[in-house]
Amino acid sequence: MHRKLIILIISVLTLFQVKGQTPEEFQSILNQFNADSISRTVHDLAAFQNRFCNNTPQGNRAVAEYLVQRLREYGIENAHVDSFQYVGNTWATGQIDRYFYNVKGEILGNSNSLDQYIIGAHLDAISINDYWMLTPTAPGADDNASGCAVFVEIARIFHENNLQPAHKIIFMGWDAEEIGLVGSYNDAAIRNGLGESSYTTVLNNDMVANQPDNLPYKIDLYQYDNAIELHEVGTDILEQYTTITPNFPDDNNTMRERSDSWAYSQAGCKAIFAIEHYFTGYYHTEQDLPQYLNYDFAKEVAKYNFALLFHYCIADLNTLGEHLPELSESIQLYPNPVHSQCYIRSSTDNSIQNVTILDLSGKVIFQSTDNEFETVHPLDLSFLPHGLFMIKIDTNQGTVYKKIIKQ
Ligand SMILES: [Zn+2]
Repeated sequence: MHRKLIILIISVLTLFQVKGQTPEEFQSILNQFNADSISRTVHDLAAFQNRFCNNTPQGNRAVAEYLVQRLREYGIENAHVDSFQYVGNTWATGQIDRYFYNVKGEILGNSNSLDQYIIGAHLDAISINDYWMLTPTAPGADDNASGCAVFVEIARIFHENNLQPAHKIIFMGWDAEEIGLVGSYNDAAIRNGLGESSYTTVLNNDMVANQPDNLPYKIDLYQYDNAIELHEVGTDILEQYTTITPNFPDDNNTMRERSDSWAYSQAGCKAIFAIEHYFTGYYHTEQDLPQYLNYDFAKEVAKYNFALLFHYCIADLNTLGEHLPELSESIQLYPNPVHSQCYIRSSTDNSIQNVTILDLSGKVIFQSTDNEFETVHPLDLSFLPHGLFMIKIDTNQGTVYKKIIKQ
């Protein structure tokens, strides 16, 4: 067989296999996200004491090497320090001519797709006093060890579940964000030069662990003009798969220009930017320490990022479980949307054996006990609240999933 054909068949099979995941299996992956694991990364990064990019002649090389080692720990063998020279004049450094250190690690896609998804965060930190003088330490736990911990956690989940994306996923740590998005501008310019912008999507997390315990979880989600669909999907995912409510800051808010996603957006990439809604009181101070953070909140942020990557690179969350197209077509659910009574009908001689109703988090709401169904099965859904539900239908030919809207 032609080598390319073999590869194609293997990739289609792999994709098919992963697409066979059910909502319950997806939920069980989300349940593996771990606050302690995120906390560990934040503590390790804060322990560098000072991640100001121009602090020493070595700068953040050791910080970048730490993140490389963490990505390699999760099977991303190609992770490496991506160093580059920068000549410029910034408010915090004066005139400089030196090297900075980005981090890059890739999980290759198993299709021929050119699309690629960057999940990143800046790895540097800055701390200043009331006179805008640099202070001796810059622990940067929230800003932005938290964002780095999110992508490291996602690398862990990909590794432990052996997930094979259809498109390339790139884990990135950006150096020198705090002096003007230097690391991200550098990478975005290189990608733009290579013609990659139109098929590159960037998920940026910058300050994602400050959340008061006694208030509902909230995050500010920034949209860029060329990435409206991405923003809509991100919003849906936050609402359906996390305990965080998204908040949409005013369009004129300049915050969207102040983090690394802006550099990519300017280069023509699609981007989305998440930042805590309850802005830390320790911003750019020596008190931005790990003990003040809410790691359960950061865990929810990681789940949102993971679900976005899963949706675009592994399986459309809207069709999760619908991996038996012929069988799925032979089973009808009507009317949909439904007020009270609906019917499940099999148009072939398949018999419907069990019916389970799940909410979108995969939680079972109702399970039929009768397993002697006819080819038409009535189902009274008047007990369900309004909203979108998943109906799992077991037949003698396999299981299909249908979405139903309860009005
Ligand atoms: Zn930051």
